Amino acid sequence: MISLRYMIEVAGLTKAYGQRLAVRDLTFRVAPGEVYALLGPNGAGKTTTLRVLSTLIRPTQGRVRVAGFDVVQDPLEVRRRLGLVNGGMRVYDRLTGREVLRFFAGFYGLEGQAFQKALDWVAGLLEMEETLERRVMEMSTGMRQKVVIARAILHRPPVLLLDEATAGLDVFARRALLDFVKAYRQLGNAIIYSTHVMSEAEEVADRVGFLHQGRLVYEGSKEEALALGEGSLEQAFVRRVKEAA
Ligand code: ATP
Repeated sequence: MISLRYMIEVAGLTKAYGQRLAVRDLTFRVAPGEVYALLGPNGAGKTTTLRVLSTLIRPTQGRVRVAGFDVVQDPLEVRRRLGLVNGGMRVYDRLTGREVLRFFAGFYGLEGQAFQKALDWVAGLLEMEETLERRVMEMSTGMRQKVVIARAILHRPPVLLLDEATAGLDVFARRALLDFVKAYRQLGNAIIYSTHVMSEAEEVADRVGFLHQGRLVYEGSKEEALALGEGSLEQAFVRRVKEAA
């Protein structure tokens, strides 16, 4: 069991694509059992930040640690402790939920009994018993989304990153996802919830960071941010961006 004060530590992160600075001098931390909402419009740098955290791209400058491991020096250790959910993730149409999950479990070295245990745990957490036996092509969007989440957390990562995870979901699937985020936090995990949908952050976040043109223009507890926006995160965001300009 790891006992770290912060499960995610981003210090002075800058990421450049050629001449373009997608993220500039970004610093924030996320504690175990905390949901950090990374908020900003399209192009603000949210996806870039999550890609660095998940070791898919390297930082240009700065230090990034996940569960105590540096993303550049120890990418494999980072990946073992991290799950990533994207809005638009695809799953193989012809396979059943169980087959998809067995395939991905292999990446984490979960086979035989260990796989069965992981499957039982995830199926219980996400209420997806029926989903396991159905082919992906015959699933509802909500069922598919559960498969996407399940495969991201089969190895019980203490860090979970969600990037616009409710994109394209109907009302029931969205509700199930938000409830899952709260349940996963309750287990003591650190979560980054990245979105441009402020109302979702209002529901699940403990802390919020406002990202605008690659810079963190505000960070605070959700309550502080709501007070700044007279009860609305959207208003707080707009106010802060204007002040920063
Ligand atoms: P979105 O929700 O639209 O993905 P975002 O907040 O996640 O927005 P990023 O995708 O991180 O933002 O993009 C930040 C900036 O970096 C944008 O200006 C984008 O055009 C640019 N960018 C992102 N990826 C690349 C890339 N591979 N090459 C060049 N520029 C990129």
